[in-house]
Amino acid sequence: GPAVSSAALPARAAGTGPVLLNFNESPYGPSPAAQAAARAIVADSGRYLFALAGELRDAFAQQEGVAAQRVRLFPGSSEPLNRAAVVWTSPSAGLVVADPTFESLGDLAAARGATVVKVPLRADGAHDVRAMVDAARQVNAGLLYLCNPNNPTGSITPADDIAWMLANKPPQTRLLVDEAYLQFSAQRSVIAQVMQRDDVIVLRTFSKLYGMAGLRLGVAAAHPDRLRELASLGDNPLPVTALAAGLASLREPGLVEQRREQNTRVRQATVEWLQKRGFRCLPTEANCFMVDVQRDGAAFTRAMAERGVVIGRSWPIWPQVVRVSVGTEAEMAAFRDAFAAVVGLKG
Ligand code: PLP
Repeated sequence: GPAVSSAALPARAAGTGPVLLNFNESPYGPSPAAQAAARAIVADSGRYLFALAGELRDAFAQQEGVAAQRVRLFPGSSEPLNRAAVVWTSPSAGLVVADPTFESLGDLAAARGATVVKVPLRADGAHDVRAMVDAARQVNAGLLYLCNPNNPTGSITPADDIAWMLANKPPQTRLLVDEAYLQFSAQRSVIAQVMQRDDVIVLRTFSKLYGMAGLRLGVAAAHPDRLRELASLGDNPLPVTALAAGLASLREPGLVEQRREQNTRVRQATVEWLQKRGFRCLPTEANCFMVDVQRDGAAFTRAMAERGVVIGRSWPIWPQVVRVSVGTEAEMAAFRDAFAAVVGLKG
Protein backbone atom coordinates (compact mmCIF):
# COMPACT_ATOMS: atom_id res chain seq x y z
CA GLY A 1 0.00 0.00 0.00
CA PRO A 2 0.92 3.67 -0.08
CA ALA A 3 3.61 4.88 2.31
CA VAL A 4 2.43 6.59 5.47
CA SER A 5 3.96 10.06 5.68
CA SER A 6 6.16 10.53 8.71
CA ALA A 7 4.04 13.52 9.66
CA ALA A 8 1.11 11.13 10.23
CA LEU A 9 2.95 9.10 12.84
CA PRO A 10 2.89 11.44 15.84
CA ALA A 11 -0.80 12.14 15.21
CA ARG A 12 -1.48 8.40 15.22
CA ALA A 13 0.46 7.86 18.40
CA ALA A 14 -1.44 10.74 19.99
CA GLY A 15 -4.74 9.26 18.82
CA THR A 16 -5.66 12.39 16.90
CA GLY A 17 -5.08 11.17 13.34
CA PRO A 18 -7.66 9.50 11.11
CA VAL A 19 -9.06 6.12 12.10
CA LEU A 20 -7.28 3.58 9.88
CA LEU A 21 -9.47 0.63 8.96
CA ASN A 22 -7.94 0.06 5.53
CA PHE A 23 -5.09 -2.46 5.62
CA ASN A 24 -6.35 -5.21 7.97
CA GLU A 25 -3.69 -4.19 10.48
CA SER A 26 -3.91 -4.83 14.19
CA PRO A 27 -5.07 -1.78 16.15
CA TYR A 28 -3.23 -3.19 19.18
CA GLY A 29 0.26 -3.67 17.73
CA PRO A 30 2.69 -6.23 19.13
CA SER A 31 1.78 -7.51 22.60
CA PRO A 32 3.54 -5.74 25.49
CA ALA A 33 5.87 -8.74 25.94
CA ALA A 34 6.71 -8.74 22.23
CA GLN A 35 7.43 -5.01 22.32
CA ALA A 36 9.71 -5.44 25.31
CA ALA A 37 11.58 -8.28 23.58
CA ALA A 38 12.05 -6.19 20.43
CA ARG A 39 13.33 -3.20 22.40
CA ALA A 40 15.73 -5.35 24.43
CA ILE A 41 17.34 -6.93 21.37
CA VAL A 42 18.18 -3.66 19.63
CA ALA A 43 21.43 -3.57 21.61
CA ASP A 44 22.47 -6.86 19.95
CA SER A 45 21.38 -5.89 16.46
CA GLY A 46 24.94 -5.46 15.27
CA ARG A 47 24.78 -9.24 14.76
CA TYR A 48 22.69 -11.31 12.36
CA LEU A 49 21.67 -13.61 15.22
CA PHE A 50 21.10 -16.63 12.96
CA ALA A 51 20.68 -18.85 16.03
CA LEU A 52 17.68 -16.78 17.11
CA ALA A 53 16.07 -17.41 13.72
CA GLY A 54 16.65 -21.12 14.24
CA GLU A 55 15.08 -20.95 17.67
CA LEU A 56 11.99 -19.25 16.29
CA ARG A 57 11.69 -21.70 13.40
CA ASP A 58 11.95 -24.63 15.81
CA ALA A 59 9.38 -23.13 18.21
CA PHE A 60 6.92 -22.55 15.36
CA ALA A 61 7.47 -26.05 13.97
CA GLN A 62 6.92 -27.61 17.37
CA GLN A 63 3.74 -25.63 17.98
CA GLU A 64 2.35 -26.66 14.61
CA GLY A 65 3.49 -30.27 14.78
CA VAL A 66 5.62 -30.15 11.63
CA ALA A 67 9.33 -30.85 11.09
CA ALA A 68 11.60 -27.82 11.35
CA GLN A 69 13.06 -28.76 7.94
CA ARG A 70 9.65 -27.95 6.48
CA VAL A 71 9.53 -24.42 7.90
CA ARG A 72 11.23 -21.34 6.50
CA LEU A 73 11.03 -17.80 7.88
CA PHE A 74 10.64 -14.71 5.71
CA PRO A 75 10.30 -10.98 6.36
CA GLY A 76 6.48 -11.15 6.10
CA SER A 77 4.35 -13.43 3.94
CA SER A 78 4.49 -11.04 0.97
CA GLU A 79 8.01 -12.32 0.33
CA PRO A 80 7.11 -16.01 -0.19
CA LEU A 81 3.97 -14.95 -2.11
CA ASN A 82 6.11 -12.97 -4.54
CA ARG A 83 8.61 -15.80 -4.82
CA ALA A 84 5.79 -18.29 -5.48
CA ALA A 85 4.63 -16.19 -8.43
CA VAL A 86 8.18 -16.14 -9.81
CA VAL A 87 9.12 -19.80 -9.34
CA TRP A 88 5.78 -21.54 -9.99
CA THR A 89 4.01 -19.47 -12.63
CA SER A 90 5.15 -18.50 -16.12
CA PRO A 91 3.71 -17.94 -19.60
CA SER A 92 3.29 -21.72 -19.80
CA ALA A 93 2.17 -22.35 -16.19
CA GLY A 94 -0.94 -20.45 -15.15
CA LEU A 95 -2.38 -19.37 -11.82
CA VAL A 96 -5.91 -19.88 -10.51
CA VAL A 97 -7.24 -17.58 -7.80
CA ALA A 98 -10.60 -16.64 -6.32
CA ASP A 99 -12.48 -13.44 -7.11
CA PRO A 100 -12.31 -11.41 -5.00
CA THR A 101 -9.13 -12.34 -3.18
CA PHE A 102 -5.81 -10.84 -2.06
CA GLU A 103 -4.34 -9.66 -5.32
CA SER A 104 -0.56 -9.44 -4.92
CA LEU A 105 0.25 -12.97 -6.13
CA GLY A 106 -2.08 -12.72 -9.14
CA ASP A 107 -0.86 -9.26 -10.10
CA LEU A 108 2.78 -10.34 -10.07
CA ALA A 109 2.06 -13.57 -11.98
CA ALA A 110 0.09 -11.62 -14.61
CA ALA A 111 2.87 -9.04 -14.93
CA ARG A 112 5.28 -11.88 -15.66
CA GLY A 113 3.10 -13.25 -18.44
CA ALA A 114 1.22 -16.05 -16.67
CA THR A 115 -2.43 -16.67 -17.48
CA VAL A 116 -4.38 -15.84 -14.32
CA VAL A 117 -7.90 -17.23 -13.99
CA LYS A 118 -10.17 -15.56 -11.43
CA VAL A 119 -12.94 -17.85 -10.22
CA PRO A 120 -15.82 -16.13 -8.35
CA LEU A 121 -16.33 -17.22 -4.75
CA ARG A 122 -19.41 -19.34 -4.07
CA ALA A 123 -22.46 -17.56 -2.68
CA ASP A 124 -21.48 -18.71 0.84
CA GLY A 125 -18.08 -17.03 0.45
CA ALA A 126 -16.09 -20.25 0.08
CA HIS A 127 -13.63 -20.83 -2.74
CA ASP A 128 -15.36 -22.69 -5.58
CA VAL A 129 -12.88 -25.55 -5.49
CA ARG A 130 -14.56 -27.51 -8.28
CA ALA A 131 -14.47 -24.58 -10.71
CA MET A 132 -10.91 -23.76 -9.63
CA VAL A 133 -9.71 -27.30 -10.34
CA ASP A 134 -11.41 -27.22 -13.77
CA ALA A 135 -9.63 -23.93 -14.49
CA ALA A 136 -6.31 -25.40 -13.31
CA ARG A 137 -6.63 -28.13 -15.94
CA GLN A 138 -7.51 -25.63 -18.65
CA VAL A 139 -4.51 -23.34 -18.10
CA ASN A 140 -2.01 -26.01 -17.09
CA ALA A 141 -1.74 -24.21 -13.77
CA GLY A 142 1.54 -24.21 -11.91
CA LEU A 143 -0.23 -22.85 -8.86
CA LEU A 144 -3.62 -22.68 -7.16
CA TYR A 145 -4.01 -19.92 -4.56
CA LEU A 146 -6.47 -20.39 -1.70
CA CYS A 147 -6.70 -17.74 1.00
CA ASN A 148 -8.40 -19.02 4.16
CA PRO A 149 -10.02 -16.99 5.65
CA ASN A 150 -10.14 -15.06 2.40
CA ASN A 151 -9.11 -11.43 2.06
CA PRO A 152 -11.14 -9.19 1.43
CA THR A 153 -14.23 -11.15 2.49
CA GLY A 154 -12.99 -12.91 5.62
CA SER A 155 -15.00 -15.90 4.42
CA ILE A 156 -14.04 -19.49 5.07
CA THR A 157 -13.41 -22.43 2.79
CA PRO A 158 -14.30 -25.62 4.69
CA ALA A 159 -11.62 -28.25 5.27
CA ASP A 160 -13.63 -30.77 3.23
CA ASP A 161 -13.43 -28.51 0.18
CA ILE A 162 -9.67 -28.14 0.54
CA ALA A 163 -9.36 -31.92 0.91
CA TRP A 164 -11.42 -32.33 -2.27
CA MET A 165 -9.15 -29.88 -4.09
CA LEU A 166 -6.04 -31.80 -3.00
CA ALA A 167 -7.55 -35.10 -4.13
CA ASN A 168 -8.69 -33.80 -7.51
CA LYS A 169 -6.28 -31.11 -8.70
CA PRO A 170 -3.79 -31.90 -11.48
CA PRO A 171 -0.72 -33.51 -9.86
CA GLN A 172 1.69 -30.91 -11.29
CA THR A 173 -0.35 -27.99 -9.89
CA ARG A 174 0.86 -26.85 -6.48
CA LEU A 175 -1.62 -25.54 -3.89
CA LEU A 176 -0.64 -22.48 -1.89
CA VAL A 177 -2.86 -21.94 1.15
CA ASP A 178 -2.52 -18.43 2.59
CA GLU A 179 -3.49 -18.57 6.28
CA ALA A 180 -2.70 -14.92 7.11
CA TYR A 181 -6.03 -14.58 8.97
CA LEU A 182 -6.42 -18.12 10.29
CA GLN A 183 -5.76 -17.16 13.92
CA PHE A 184 -8.89 -14.99 13.96
CA SER A 185 -11.12 -17.89 12.92
CA ALA A 186 -12.35 -21.20 14.25
CA GLN A 187 -10.88 -23.01 11.24
CA ARG A 188 -8.18 -25.64 11.51
CA SER A 189 -4.96 -25.19 9.61
CA VAL A 190 -4.03 -27.42 6.68
CA ILE A 191 -0.38 -27.19 7.72
CA ALA A 192 -0.20 -30.92 8.63
CA GLN A 193 -0.49 -31.63 4.89
CA VAL A 194 3.07 -30.46 4.35
CA MET A 195 4.23 -33.60 6.18
CA GLN A 196 2.22 -35.82 3.80
CA ARG A 197 2.61 -34.15 0.41
CA ASP A 198 5.15 -32.23 -1.65
CA ASP A 199 2.64 -30.05 -3.52
CA VAL A 200 1.17 -27.92 -0.70
CA ILE A 201 2.64 -24.68 0.60
CA VAL A 202 1.12 -23.02 3.68
CA LEU A 203 1.84 -19.37 4.52
CA ARG A 204 1.45 -17.66 7.87
CA THR A 205 2.24 -14.13 8.97
CA PHE A 206 2.91 -12.29 12.22
CA SER A 207 1.43 -9.14 10.64
CA LYS A 208 -2.20 -9.68 11.57
CA LEU A 209 -3.21 -11.17 14.92
CA TYR A 210 0.27 -10.69 16.39
CA GLY A 211 0.21 -7.05 15.27
CA MET A 212 3.67 -7.06 13.68
CA ALA A 213 2.93 -5.71 10.16
CA GLY A 214 5.68 -3.09 10.43
CA LEU A 215 8.20 -5.49 11.98
CA ARG A 216 8.04 -8.05 9.11
CA LEU A 217 7.88 -11.75 9.90
CA GLY A 218 6.20 -14.57 8.00
CA VAL A 219 6.48 -18.32 7.60
CA ALA A 220 6.30 -20.73 4.69
CA ALA A 221 5.73 -24.41 5.48
CA ALA A 222 6.23 -27.00 2.75
CA HIS A 223 8.20 -30.04 1.63
CA PRO A 224 11.96 -29.25 1.65
CA ASP A 225 12.06 -29.34 -2.17
CA ARG A 226 9.42 -26.58 -2.35
CA LEU A 227 11.24 -24.53 0.31
CA ARG A 228 14.44 -24.87 -1.73
CA GLU A 229 12.61 -23.55 -4.79
CA LEU A 230 11.38 -20.54 -2.79
CA ALA A 231 14.93 -20.01 -1.47
CA SER A 232 16.43 -20.24 -4.97
CA LEU A 233 15.89 -16.51 -5.46
CA GLY A 234 18.37 -15.72 -2.71
CA ASP A 235 18.59 -15.34 1.04
CA ASN A 236 17.93 -12.30 3.21
CA PRO A 237 18.53 -12.32 6.96
CA LEU A 238 15.60 -11.28 9.14
CA PRO A 239 15.31 -8.18 11.32
CA VAL A 240 16.30 -9.31 14.81
CA THR A 241 13.60 -7.14 16.35
CA ALA A 242 11.03 -9.19 14.41
CA LEU A 243 12.63 -12.45 15.55
CA ALA A 244 12.58 -11.42 19.21
CA ALA A 245 9.00 -10.12 19.06
CA GLY A 246 7.89 -13.17 17.09
CA LEU A 247 9.34 -15.60 19.61
CA ALA A 248 7.78 -13.69 22.50
CA SER A 249 4.41 -13.76 20.71
CA LEU A 250 4.55 -17.52 20.13
CA ARG A 251 5.41 -18.06 23.77
CA GLU A 252 2.76 -15.79 25.29
CA PRO A 253 0.03 -17.97 26.80
CA GLY A 254 -3.51 -17.04 25.77
CA LEU A 255 -2.53 -14.25 23.38
CA VAL A 256 -4.15 -15.82 20.31
CA GLU A 257 -7.39 -16.64 22.11
CA GLN A 258 -7.61 -13.23 23.76
CA ARG A 259 -7.11 -11.34 20.51
CA ARG A 260 -9.36 -13.69 18.56
CA GLU A 261 -12.21 -13.18 21.04
CA GLN A 262 -11.69 -9.43 21.15
CA ASN A 263 -11.75 -9.21 17.35
CA THR A 264 -14.83 -11.43 17.06
CA ARG A 265 -16.75 -9.42 19.65
CA VAL A 266 -16.02 -6.03 18.07
CA ARG A 267 -16.59 -7.33 14.53
CA GLN A 268 -19.92 -8.97 15.37
CA ALA A 269 -21.22 -5.86 17.10
CA THR A 270 -20.35 -3.76 14.05
CA VAL A 271 -21.85 -6.23 11.57
CA GLU A 272 -25.06 -6.48 13.63
CA TRP A 273 -25.33 -2.68 13.73
CA LEU A 274 -25.02 -2.54 9.92
CA GLN A 275 -27.41 -5.40 9.23
CA LYS A 276 -30.04 -3.93 11.55
CA ARG A 277 -29.96 -0.84 9.35
CA GLY A 278 -30.39 -2.87 6.16
CA PHE A 279 -26.77 -3.07 5.02
CA ARG A 280 -25.87 -6.63 4.06
CA CYS A 281 -22.52 -7.97 5.29
CA LEU A 282 -20.83 -11.10 3.97
CA PRO A 283 -20.00 -13.95 6.36
CA THR A 284 -16.55 -13.40 7.89
CA GLU A 285 -14.21 -14.99 10.42
CA ALA A 286 -11.31 -12.54 9.97
CA ASN A 287 -10.36 -9.05 11.18
CA CYS A 288 -12.23 -7.51 8.27
CA PHE A 289 -15.68 -7.67 6.75
CA MET A 290 -17.35 -6.57 3.55
CA VAL A 291 -20.52 -4.51 3.55
CA ASP A 292 -22.81 -3.69 0.62
CA VAL A 293 -23.14 0.09 0.84
CA GLN A 294 -25.79 0.22 -1.95
CA ARG A 295 -23.90 2.93 -3.83
CA ASP A 296 -20.55 3.34 -5.54
CA GLY A 297 -17.92 1.89 -3.20
CA ALA A 298 -15.11 4.22 -4.28
CA ALA A 299 -17.22 7.33 -3.68
CA PHE A 300 -18.38 5.93 -0.35
CA THR A 301 -14.80 5.27 0.75
CA ARG A 302 -13.86 8.85 -0.15
CA ALA A 303 -16.80 10.24 1.82
CA MET A 304 -15.79 8.19 4.87
CA ALA A 305 -12.19 9.41 4.61
CA GLU A 306 -13.44 13.00 4.56
CA ARG A 307 -15.02 12.23 7.95
CA GLY A 308 -11.76 10.87 9.32
CA VAL A 309 -12.40 7.14 8.87
CA VAL A 310 -10.20 5.50 6.25
CA ILE A 311 -11.75 2.20 5.16
CA GLY A 312 -10.68 -0.34 2.55
CA ARG A 313 -11.73 -0.40 -1.04
CA SER A 314 -14.12 -2.29 -3.27
CA TRP A 315 -13.06 -5.00 -5.73
CA PRO A 316 -14.05 -4.76 -9.42
CA ILE A 317 -16.35 -7.81 -9.19
CA TRP A 318 -18.49 -6.06 -6.51
CA PRO A 319 -18.27 -2.27 -7.02
CA GLN A 320 -20.81 -1.45 -4.27
CA VAL A 321 -19.20 -3.62 -1.59
CA VAL A 322 -16.34 -2.25 0.52
CA ARG A 323 -13.88 -3.88 2.90
CA VAL A 324 -13.60 -2.60 6.44
CA SER A 325 -10.88 -3.71 8.87
CA VAL A 326 -11.89 -4.32 12.48
CA GLY A 327 -10.40 -1.72 14.82
CA THR A 328 -10.83 -1.11 18.52
CA GLU A 329 -14.28 -0.56 20.04
CA ALA A 330 -13.68 3.20 20.01
CA GLU A 331 -12.56 3.12 16.39
CA MET A 332 -15.66 1.17 15.38
CA ALA A 333 -17.83 3.72 17.20
CA ALA A 334 -16.19 6.37 15.01
CA PHE A 335 -16.85 4.14 12.00
CA ARG A 336 -20.57 3.89 12.89
CA ASP A 337 -20.86 7.67 13.32
CA ALA A 338 -19.21 8.33 9.96
CA PHE A 339 -21.23 5.59 8.26
CA ALA A 340 -24.52 6.98 9.61
CA ALA A 341 -23.58 10.46 8.42
CA VAL A 342 -22.50 9.35 4.94
CA VAL A 343 -25.59 7.24 4.23
CA GLY A 344 -27.92 9.75 5.94
CA LEU A 345 -29.20 7.62 8.81
CA LYS A 346 -31.22 9.42 11.46
CA GLY A 347 -30.42 9.26 15.19
N1 PLP B 1 -1.62 -12.58 2.55
C1 PLP B 1 -2.78 -11.96 2.77
C2 PLP B 1 -4.04 -12.69 2.55
C3 PLP B 1 -2.81 -10.63 3.19
O1 PLP B 1 -3.97 -10.02 3.39
C4 PLP B 1 -1.58 -9.95 3.38
C5 PLP B 1 -1.57 -8.53 3.81
O2 PLP B 1 -2.52 -7.85 3.85
C6 PLP B 1 -0.40 -10.64 3.14
C7 PLP B 1 -0.46 -11.95 2.74
C8 PLP B 1 0.93 -10.01 3.26
O3 PLP B 1 1.17 -9.56 4.53
P1 PLP B 1 2.64 -9.56 5.17
O4 PLP B 1 3.63 -9.47 4.07
O5 PLP B 1 2.65 -8.38 6.04
O6 PLP B 1 2.75 -10.87 5.89
